[in-house]
Amino acid sequence: MTNLDTDLLKALRQAALDAANDNIKFYVNSGWRSPAYQNQLLREAVSKYGSEQEAARWVSTAETSLHVKGEAVDIGHSDATAWLSTHGAEYGLCQIYRNESWHYELRREAIDHGCPRMYADPTQDPRMRK
Ligand SMILES: [Zn+2]
Repeated sequence: MTNLDTDLLKALRQAALDAANDNIKFYVNSGWRSPAYQNQLLREAVSKYGSEQEAARWVSTAETSLHVKGEAVDIGHSDATAWLSTHGAEYGLCQIYRNESWHYELRREAIDHGCPRMYADPTQDPRMRK
């Protein structure tokens, strides 16, 4: 969990502990990423999806990625993300993009007010436009 935001990590650990009582195990498939690794993922996505515009729906640049900032985690498996979609808000853990059921970020206000409306995909996220 190198370089991951400590509050995000704390929320994730608490949620994982409670999910374990429901016999659900969290797998962190991706947490913090170096800028170099993020750029590599983006290059791979461009060749996979055929264009930068299509790749942008799935992979951000090193400048905009919340993973590079240490503020996002990708969680598996599907039982864990199903558990989080029900209980995550209680910990401030929110799915941000409708097309990425595995991508979670910390939204402290969600504990009181629920998670904000999801973006369809990262291209709708104003943080991705720089
Ligand atoms: Zn992610």
